[in-house]
Amino acid sequence: MSFSELGLNQTLQTAVANSGYTTPTPIQARGIPAVLAGRDVLAAAQTGTGKTAAFTLPILQKLGDVGDKRGRKPRVLVLTPTRELAAQVADSVRTYGRDLPVRTAVIFGGVGFGPQVDAFRRGLDIIVATPGRLLDHVRQGNVDLSALEMLVLDEADRMLDMGFIHDIRRVIERLPPKRQNLLFSATFSGDIRKLARTLLNNPEEIDV
Ligand code: AMP
Repeated sequence: MSFSELGLNQTLQTAVANSGYTTPTPIQARGIPAVLAGRDVLAAAQTGTGKTAAFTLPILQKLGDVGDKRGRKPRVLVLTPTRELAAQVADSVRTYGRDLPVRTAVIFGGVGFGPQVDAFRRGLDIIVATPGRLLDHVRQGNVDLSALEMLVLDEADRMLDMGFIHDIRRVIERLPPKRQNLLFSATFSGDIRKLARTLLNNPEEIDV
């Protein structure tokens, strides 16, 4: 199995090669074609399985032509439980998307609002955020999520453990109903299954 067989275009195959990856991990082998096909995905995946590339690579490919930079509305939202994970995911997006005209912002609490508001104003394609601070921005009218096409919940079990379920649901209420949803979780409690049932539409289930 090679990355080219998964349907990744030349730009992203080069990005993968530059990262030194030769073989897709199991979650990449199943996840990348599913995301490219537009499917919702429910994935059981621990850290270290290559899950970040499993959603980042196909998302970058799907963004395709990103159009004018100014005033761009975000098309992808990745929610993570911690600022560290948000920063890591954004690093991956920037690394794999180095040759693409994609703008990414990391949004988390504990820092000033000003630079984050500026980033929204400049125009963005991908937001990687923790739920509480993103909800603050949504409520203050700093970010327009009306053009959102893809939602990723990364480490969803940790987000629920940290009490983010209400914030997540309130963000989801503001999103366009027609969108692609990806849910990654290391464990599957009743609460995760309930969230998956309400969020995901006929998901491809991946257990690696
Ligand atoms: P993650 O599970 O997303 O936290 O990724 C764990 C680590 O695996 C990261 O350091 C990635 O750079 C690395 N990685 C991801 N995909 C591959 C791959 N196909 N081959 C080798 N390493 C990979």
